[in-house]
Parts: sequence; C-alpha cells; structure tokens
Amino acid sequence: MSLNQSGWRPEMGSGNDGAAVDTFTGNRALMLEESLIFEIGSNDVTGVDFPEGDVVGSRLGDLSRTSPIGLPGLTEPETVRHYTRLSRQNYAIDLGLFPLGSCTMKHNPRLNERVARLPGFADIHPLQPVDSVQGALGLIHELADWLVKLTGMNSVAMSPKAGAHGELCGILAIRAALEARGDARQVVLVPESAHGTNPATAAFAGYKVEAIPATKEGRVDLEKIRERLGPDVASVMITNPNTCGLFERDMKAISDAVHEAGAFVYCDGANFNAIVGRVRPGDLGVDAMHINLHKTFSTPHGGGGPGSGPVVFSEALTPFAPLPFVEKRDDGFHLVEEETADEHHAHSFGRMVAFHGQMGMFTRALSYIMSHGADGLRQVAEDAVLNANYILRSLDDVLHAPFGKGPCMHEALFGDAGIAEGLSTLDIAKALIDEGFHPMTMYFPLVVHGAMLIEPTETESRADLDQFIGAVRSVVERAKAGDERLKGAPYYAPRRRLDETQAARKPVLVWNEPEPAAAAE
Ligand SMILES: *Cc1c(COP(=O)(O)O)cnc(C)c1O
Repeated sequence: MSLNQSGWRPEMGSGNDGAAVDTFTGNRALMLEESLIFEIGSNDVTGVDFPEGDVVGSRLGDLSRTSPIGLPGLTEPETVRHYTRLSRQNYAIDLGLFPLGSCTMKHNPRLNERVARLPGFADIHPLQPVDSVQGALGLIHELADWLVKLTGMNSVAMSPKAGAHGELCGILAIRAALEARGDARQVVLVPESAHGTNPATAAFAGYKVEAIPATKEGRVDLEKIRERLGPDVASVMITNPNTCGLFERDMKAISDAVHEAGAFVYCDGANFNAIVGRVRPGDLGVDAMHINLHKTFSTPHGGGGPGSGPVVFSEALTPFAPLPFVEKRDDGFHLVEEETADEHHAHSFGRMVAFHGQMGMFTRALSYIMSHGADGLRQVAEDAVLNANYILRSLDDVLHAPFGKGPCMHEALFGDAGIAEGLSTLDIAKALIDEGFHPMTMYFPLVVHGAMLIEPTETESRADLDQFIGAVRSVVERAKAGDERLKGAPYYAPRRRLDETQAARKPVLVWNEPEPAAAAE
C-alpha cells in the first residue's frame, strides 16, 4: 500500500488571501491549514486491507462502472487528522460566547448528552411495538405535560422538527379549524419585524401575507391590527417577546381583537426562554405556538443540527392538531395514530412527520427541564434578561440603541447610526471574529438599519460578558473613527472575507480535478 503524498501545494503558503504567510507549510502555529479531502487523498490509497476476493463474474451486464469512482482515499491517521484539523477551524458554543440574537445559543449541559445516549432512548426504533418502548413514550408524555403546563395551553403536538416546521403545523391547524366551519379566509397578518419563516410559512400554507407596521417603540401597532382585521383574516402571527427583544405588552388586547374578528392567534415562541416560568402564553389568548426546544431548553443546534419544534394548542385548535400523540391509560402509554371519537383530536389535519419527532431532542430538553425544576426555569428567564440588559446598558453609549436604554427582554438590539461613512455592521461583525467571537446576528430584524441583535443567554458569566463588551466597544470605536482597516477583517481567521453573495448564490459544490498543466504549476 502506497502512502499518500503530502497534501502541501505551493500556493498554500499564501494564506489563501494573497497576504503572505511566511511558513513553509502555510500553517500558522497551531492553526493548521487544511486542503480539501480530494486534494490530499488519492484513488489508490485505502485505510483498510481487504483480502483478495475470489474473482467472480459481473452480474451487472454492461452496466458496471468503467471510470474511476472518484472517491478520495486516505489512510486512517490521515483521515482522523483531516477531520480533526477541520473541526478546529469551527467556532462552537463549547469554545466561547455565541451572541447570535434570536438563536439562543446557550451552553448544553453534559448531563443532557449522557441521558440522550442511554441505550433505552438512543437505540430504539420508531417501528418497535409500543409495549417495548414504554419508557420512551413515557418520556415524550412527561415532556408534553411540562410544555403544556409551562405555556398554560390545552395540548401539544410533539412531532414537528423545528421552529419553522412548528409554524407550519400551527397554521395548518388554524386552516383546518377554519375549513371545518366553512370559513375560507385568505390573509395572514405578520409584523414587519417578524422572522422570515413567519411569512414563508403563511405563504407556503396558501395564505396571502400582509405586513403590520411597528410602532416607534418597536412593538406591534395594535391600532393598525384593529383597523385591518376583518372577515378575510385567518390569523395574526406574533412573536413575543418580539425580535426587537421587547415584550408585546398589548398581547392580550391583540388576541381579544383577533378572536372577536373570528381569526386565530399564532405566536412564534422562539423567544420563550425570556419568559419561561414567568408568563404563560395561554393566559395571553394564544391559539397555537411553537417552542424551539433547541433554543429555550438547550439541546445542541447550529450547523444544521437537529431541532425540535413542538406546538402547543388552545382548546379551540386541539381537535385539529396533528397525529400522533402519546396518551397515558391504565395499562400504560399508547401512541394514538388515528383520529379519536371524542372531541380531543377528532378532526386532526394529518401528520407532520413519518414517526413521532426528534427523540434525541426530547430526552435532552426533558433532562434540561428536570435538572432546573420549575424555579430554575424561572431563573433561566430572569438571568437571560439580566444578561441582555447588562449588554444593552454597557454598550448604549457607543452603539445606537434604537428603542432606548431598556429594559429589554433576552436580547439587546443596536443599529448602525454613528458608524463612519463607508463602514458598516458587516465590518464590525467581521472584526469581532478577529477578537475571537462569533458575530452577533446582523441586519435582522429589518426594522432597524444595520441591525445588530445580541443575545447572551443566561449561561454566560459576568467575566465573559465583560470581555465581549470590551471587544465590541473597541471595534465600534474604530468603526466610528473610520478605521479603514476594518474593511479587510477578519485578518486572523483561517479564511479571510468571503464574497458571501456569490457563495450563497453560486456555491461551488463539486470539486473538479485541476488540469494537469495547472497542477504542475
Ligand atoms: C429561530 C427562529 C425561528 C425558526 O426556528 P427554526 O427552529 O430555526 O426553524 C422562527 N422565529 C424566530 C423568531 C426564531 O428566532
């Protein structure tokens, strides 16, 4: 077996950005340069010694492949090093603060991971007979009970697999309820500050979306909603606390007006971590709300990892909720997969997923909930809000806080007013990478120019917040002074500034072997 040749290529010494890196390897001390697996691997290497097989005739007729398969071959140590080097280029919640507003990137307690890996939860199959998975069904039932109690709602559908999926679930239940009474309403009202998934969901479910303007204080305009409500409006989708990090104080009045007009209230519950244990959405007149388990109740997310978006329902919508659900009877837990004869789930709109939802996220979320307890969850909300206000008040003298000095809820929102001409929110975000922080959420919500939305979560210590605040202050001061060097940031990251539009619109997803002439260059 031949050893693969070194992956080093002369152009790597340039640090990928034209700026000279004067090491032979292109490595910068512990920051190791890493090429694509196709560039370091070769077709004739394998990490496994296969025994010579008996020569057998092909049974594929003339369909067998004649060209090389094109998979890179690496030895075991090369493979391990390749992926380990790549993993070291990631920023992760286990490395430092992840201030992404709206995303709720909090520490994931290791206890959750331990529980999720218990074989009784991790190694079961959704098609196993229910009498062999009683513990797992019991866990889903117990988590469902917590979610219903914490939200003050009537029932919960556990199966949706993310917040956006939960929104669709809620809107489909609303549509089913309206259709059941022969009411073909066509419009869903969505505030200007809403997350993009809200209008996308309503449109996907076949509704016409209309925007509701925000007040100068960053809240939904109750009067504008009242004016617009009518027999054509199916639902109003409200995020509370909203994406400006503010509590919608008029929520009950909004719900009352919506109900009076014969419509339903959908609440985007992505920010539930700011009010859990303190406010029950059911008391505010909400008819359906998704809970991002992967935000409010920890569980790892980001990088496309699994989410989970159970949806809680009011009494009015419960009969239309999706299947399946877990029911506790005298002889144990049952998985109800058909519509029920009684009103509870009598008119289910169908299923959201093939099986029962994200079991791994259920175990992590319940572990998080039970290790905090009711009082601990309340403190989660209080500490998340305290940390966000600490950030707001520590930065509002250098950054423009469009909705004042607070108090805010769990996230602090700033705009780009006061930044020197020619510099932008993007430059600040990129310079924060050089300071060792993942940037905040930028340019969202759309109602604030050059928005920077910072959510520290409750898991950050005062020392970590102070370091982050210091970094932001220093970058913002440079941005206000017109420091042109910011435009080139990040300088110290494995990759420099990308053309993000090009990367999103025209991603290069296929690796092509370079022409021999170019390779020999
Ligand atoms: C995260 C988020 C969503 C979407 O949730 P996913 O789980 O990412 O699908 C919707 N609305 C708001 C306000 C959010 O922050």
